[in-house]
Amino acid sequence: MVEQVEYVVVGLGAFGSATAYALARGGADVLGLEQFELGHVRGASHDTSRILRHSYHTPGYVALTVAAYDDWASLEREAGERLVTVVGGLDLFPAEATVPVTDHTGSLSANDVPYEVLEPSEVQQRFPQFVLPPGTVGLYQQRAAIVPAARGTQTMQQMARAHGARLQDRCAVTAVRDRGDAGIDVDAGGQTYRCRRLVVCADAWTNRVLEGLDVRLPLKTTQEQFSYFAPADPAAFAPGRMPLWIWLGEQSFYGFPCYGEATVKVAQDCGGPPVTGDSRSFDPDPGREALVADFVARTLPGIGRPVRSKTCLYTLTPERDFALGPVPGHSAAFAAIGAGHGFKFSPTIGRLLAELATTGECTADIGPFRLDRPVMVDPPPVDEWAV
Ligand SMILES: Cc1cc2nc3c(=O)[nH]c(=O)nc-3n(C[C@H](O)[C@H](O)[C@H](O)COP(=O)(O)OP(=O)(O)OC[C@H]3O[C@@H](n4cnc5c(N)ncnc54)[C@H](O)[C@@H]3O)c2cc1C
Repeated sequence: MVEQVEYVVVGLGAFGSATAYALARGGADVLGLEQFELGHVRGASHDTSRILRHSYHTPGYVALTVAAYDDWASLEREAGERLVTVVGGLDLFPAEATVPVTDHTGSLSANDVPYEVLEPSEVQQRFPQFVLPPGTVGLYQQRAAIVPAARGTQTMQQMARAHGARLQDRCAVTAVRDRGDAGIDVDAGGQTYRCRRLVVCADAWTNRVLEGLDVRLPLKTTQEQFSYFAPADPAAFAPGRMPLWIWLGEQSFYGFPCYGEATVKVAQDCGGPPVTGDSRSFDPDPGREALVADFVARTLPGIGRPVRSKTCLYTLTPERDFALGPVPGHSAAFAAIGAGHGFKFSPTIGRLLAELATTGECTADIGPFRLDRPVMVDPPPVDEWAV
């Protein structure tokens, strides 16, 4: 039995849920398929919090963040729910920073986004929780915010359904076949769906889904980890006194103020071992917890000890730019991968994928994210994952 559907979205994490929402909101006939239960913790869109920020190393990304803030605001309005908690953000550039602060300041200026550059003493004065090595420069952007990962994804699912999308979970896509003008066949749950357009938002499992289209992308999945610390004085880490922060050293770390509980979340960015979506474990690595604890013991001495740690997946492109756009060789198929920094953009990525799937074009410059850009076709020997 083949069921005709206009649009099929594979994967209902943040990206797929946002895409189903944007398509359904535009009146399209959408079927979203998820292999696990909605809200599961096996991918990249679970847990409490994600960073939404303007401060990025290229003008293109900063421009995309401006759209992201607007898309989160319109989702909040339509859902009647507060999702964005502005707390301010502090990027910390030590002497050996992997990205020069001028990349960020230049990109922010190019988009008229206000910011402040703080000398070490100014950082110390404004945020006495930090103990920083000499020469560390701070870049403060007051609009940096926290968005809820699991709850935000759920809200997009609810809005998609409210606009008529069918979302089916525990329904793994096992094969896709391009039938040219007839559309694309998608096998799932013992059923075949023939769709006019296919959107693949399968993150760590992307290459498995694209097998049927004979496409393989140079993606690497890593098992990332974050820890919650219990400060003796949580008030000192509360929003208003403590910003979001990102340390852009050789080893990169980032952290949040208290959010919904009297703990402080901190993690190393991009330090995890290579895994697959199915081979990964859920057991936090004590060595990696200790590495983060050592860093914050030096840099945020009042933060206390870790009380729990969890794991999560990054799926990375060679230079850690997104992959977003048509699947090479298949004009009816589109895909997106967030490269470990996509959640903040999810309502926007969903909207852009919906525009691409419905009109073949979109309202943002996605040229840098093409799936057939040079590094995706001929990946460099060494990955460049600093963002
Ligand atoms: C620890 C951590 C911290 C992060 N912090 C930030 C941050 O602060 N800010 C930020 O912007 N980003 C951050 N990110 C990145 C961000 O969370 C991801 O880029 C984003 O969640 C990716 O969403 P996704 O929908 O593409 O992936 P996922 O949520 O993994 O969704 C993919 C879905 O596809 C489903 N699927 C796969 N194969 C199939 C199939 N065959 N059939 C049906 N369904 C299938 C999977 O089950 C899954 O649900 C972080 C990520 C991690 C891991």
